[in-house]
Amino acid sequence: MNELRRESPYPMVSIDEAQQLITAHCAPLGVEPTSSLHADGRVLAEDVFASDNIPDVPKSAMDGYALRAADGLSPRRVLAELTAGGSGTVRVEAGTAVRIMTGAPIPPGADAMIQVELTEEHNGVLQIEREVPPGFNIHTVGQDIAAGQLVLARGTTLGAAEVGLLATVGVSSISVFRRPRVAVLATGDEVVEPDAPREVGGVRDSNRYALLAAAREAGCEVVSLGIARDDYGLQREAILRGLEGADVLLTSGGVSMGTRDLIKPILAELGQVHFGRIAFKPGKPTTFASVGGKLVFGLPGYPASSLVSFEVFVRPALRRMQGDTRPERPLVQVRLLEPIKPSPDRPEYQRITIFWQDGQLVARSTGGQGSSRLMSLHGANGLLLVPAGTAVYPVGAELGALLVGSLVV
Ligand code: AMP
Ligand code: MG
Repeated sequence: MNELRRESPYPMVSIDEAQQLITAHCAPLGVEPTSSLHADGRVLAEDVFASDNIPDVPKSAMDGYALRAADGLSPRRVLAELTAGGSGTVRVEAGTAVRIMTGAPIPPGADAMIQVELTEEHNGVLQIEREVPPGFNIHTVGQDIAAGQLVLARGTTLGAAEVGLLATVGVSSISVFRRPRVAVLATGDEVVEPDAPREVGGVRDSNRYALLAAAREAGCEVVSLGIARDDYGLQREAILRGLEGADVLLTSGGVSMGTRDLIKPILAELGQVHFGRIAFKPGKPTTFASVGGKLVFGLPGYPASSLVSFEVFVRPALRRMQGDTRPERPLVQVRLLEPIKPSPDRPEYQRITIFWQDGQLVARSTGGQGSSRLMSLHGANGLLLVPAGTAVYPVGAELGALLVGSLVV
């Protein structure tokens, strides 16, 4: 049996130092081709330029009549009808008009169009209610996208609009960054599968499933490595197995000061531990190591610590590894609706709900902030950055917060 240490051999690093050490070890993983049309959630690895103008010819913006503005209010003879996608080479001369539908090319000779709501047509003669200026209701060439224009930049995360843009410019295959493969291992003799019988004192494995979900949300492919007992050989074997097929390994538990906290010594044996303690709450024992060119994050066992550490340290790394040029969550300024008590010795990320009230962002605590209380993350769309200290922040005080979810109403 190991001896119980009184003091961690790992120096305490600051949040900034920890983030810098992590950033120094993560680079984009590589690129692969994919179909643009199903690439939502991926990060673009190339600049995409438009090869032609959108629209390619002047087009009607509404349903109505193409005409010559200079004819003023005089009646016009209707020559023909043009529909979107239809063809026809009618020319609009003085005193004439062409019935035209939204998206149809403006016929030669016409320099404006008037919507049907402002017109009357009887026996092929058009009467308009008001004069229109040249160019009225005409979509000009390249108005939406100009030929040669940069449409999407490398490093952009693709969403619905971006998939639509790629389709619009006729680019059906693109190069994207590879998604990191993330393996997650739970540890602990007391830890059991959520649907397994629980012995007295047993703990259902919430961390592995929460971390797998968080890594998926961060754009990664995930692999579950199950639960390893608190045994050096077993955990060492599970870590090596996990690293075989993964870019990043996340472990849960076993990084504190107990005699059965084995993750740090195993990582020190297998590779290089970059840090083993962070001056931060919740999640002081969070550990970061490299093993054979792969990254390992040893996350704490307490469920709130595990997920907050993931959010603050792991998620930005996973986004960087997939080429995201904006890997960080937005930092916003919030006004407190309740007093907030800081931790005396460490900066703390307290879980809050952020919403908009009377022209500013306000924050309400999610309740007890104990490291074991996973309920503190339920409904939390913000992590309030509370500096270490003794003075309570009163109602109305302003603090910075990471916006980690959508604003709530
Ligand atoms: P440890 O860091 O291993 O000492 O664990 C700290 C606390 O977190 C203990 O109370 C564990 O029972 C709990 N814990 C460890 N792993 C998990 C897990 N996978 N899911 C939920 N709780 C856990
Ligand atoms: Mg443990």
